[in-house]
Amino acid sequence: MKPTAEVLAQYQTVIGLEIHIQLQTQTKVFASESMSFGEDPNSSVSAVTYAHPGTLPNPNLACIDQMLRLGLALGCEINPYSYFDRKNYFYPDLPKGYQVTQDQAPLCLKGTVEVPMPDGSSFSVHLDRIHLEEDAGKSIHDQDPHYTLVDLNRAGTGLAEMVTNPDLRSPEQAGAMLSEVRRIVRYLGVSDANMERGNLRCDANVSVMLKDATEYGTRVEVKNLNSINFLQRAIQYEVERQVGLIESGGRVQQQTRLWDARQQKTYAMRDKETAQDYRYFPEPDMLPIVVSEEKKEEIRVSLPELPVSRFHQYVDKMGIGVNEAMTLIEDLPFATYFEQLADRVGEGKVAANWLLGPVRTYLNEHDIEVSDYPVTQENLAKLIALVSGDKVSFTVARDQLLPACLEAPQADPNILAEKMGLLAGTDQDELLVAMQQLMERMPDEVKRYRQGKKNLAGFFVGQMMKEFKGKADPKAVNRVVRQELEKDS
Ligand code: ADP
Ligand code: MG
Repeated sequence: MKPTAEVLAQYQTVIGLEIHIQLQTQTKVFASESMSFGEDPNSSVSAVTYAHPGTLPNPNLACIDQMLRLGLALGCEINPYSYFDRKNYFYPDLPKGYQVTQDQAPLCLKGTVEVPMPDGSSFSVHLDRIHLEEDAGKSIHDQDPHYTLVDLNRAGTGLAEMVTNPDLRSPEQAGAMLSEVRRIVRYLGVSDANMERGNLRCDANVSVMLKDATEYGTRVEVKNLNSINFLQRAIQYEVERQVGLIESGGRVQQQTRLWDARQQKTYAMRDKETAQDYRYFPEPDMLPIVVSEEKKEEIRVSLPELPVSRFHQYVDKMGIGVNEAMTLIEDLPFATYFEQLADRVGEGKVAANWLLGPVRTYLNEHDIEVSDYPVTQENLAKLIALVSGDKVSFTVARDQLLPACLEAPQADPNILAEKMGLLAGTDQDELLVAMQQLMERMPDEVKRYRQGKKNLAGFFVGQMMKEFKGKADPKAVNRVVRQELEKDS
């Protein structure tokens, strides 16, 4: 029976994630064939991956560099001497009969992921380790009525497995953590982290305990969740199932389960294996990985600032809203464009409004990335300066000047605005002179205004706009009109 909200409220959810990140490299991790992206089944498989007798693995140093990028970015200790182990199990998509992984001495130890939340706060997730391993192939059960088919294109692909401590306390936190890891690995160029393609997947370890308990409950591992939505729903389902079990006098069994997206429930796959079941032992065909201080330094200096630190900077220092900041950090090119624009504009909020407004609309309409946006930060900043200097109104800048800039991205917006006659009449002195002449022509209206008929200001604004054939910035006109009418009154 599904427990009530009151019963659920007595329990604390505890979650630890094991996140698999496919490393972006040219070739696989221990074999020389290319990584495959949707090619014909078994078209990118070498003798090493087929496990033909006499073949030997050879580590891909690019995978190790990617691991170091990830580990150093997250403040991990880099194991100066790490090595590979064999994890033995039998499955048709694993021809060798064992997976090469790191058990005893992983490459990256500890480290922290700071996760931004939609309310502007953030929390820390401590990592146990990040180790390097190879992926298995794919068993395809639904294409032939009689046989299971095997595609080995993915077999031997390099994976970083990130294991967190049981630090997460809700489905929302788990989802935010996975989103953040996706952002981070994309920022670092470590993985394209496409969850639909399975380049980022995660296992969720879930347990519940009474809120005042001092020991964690028995955990269940839900394997192979390949969307943030599935991750959150699977956790929620498990919490309700486990609390229901305990409340009805039962006990949670340590188990490996799978998520059934159609039925929206988890189901038991097998009882949890223990390390003994896998008969781990050191991989004898491969040398240990020794990482020098110089190597670490070389990588450290090449790392970009992480999204979460940008998030804090946007919200705390620039006063940008949390939702806007979340959008701005989504990918590195967007964040970079924004920062370079904000630098030139001098006002983060103004830059953000332009980027999240007119610029993003254009990107969406043309289905392009910000790196392909025709107008440079430099020119966009010049256009924005015209608006802040009251030389061009916001609407005119957005609807006339910006489209002109998009047509001629090399052109200076100042020159464009002048050529198009958009600057006419917006000069402050010109406005002032015009207003003074207007007041001389209409002394009665001025008198009535000064006697208290304040809504005559609108009349003067209208006259001024007529004078400038609508090209004057209404804000500037309004200001001059009121300023002059209020004088000596
Ligand atoms: P194993 O030895 O089976 O690999 P670990 O102790 O390494 O188990 O933990 C595997 C994952 O399970 C980690 O992500 C860890 O945070 C998580 N985990 C451990 N205990 C619990 C628990 N009681 N509740 C939820 N998650 C847990
Ligand atoms: Mg473990």
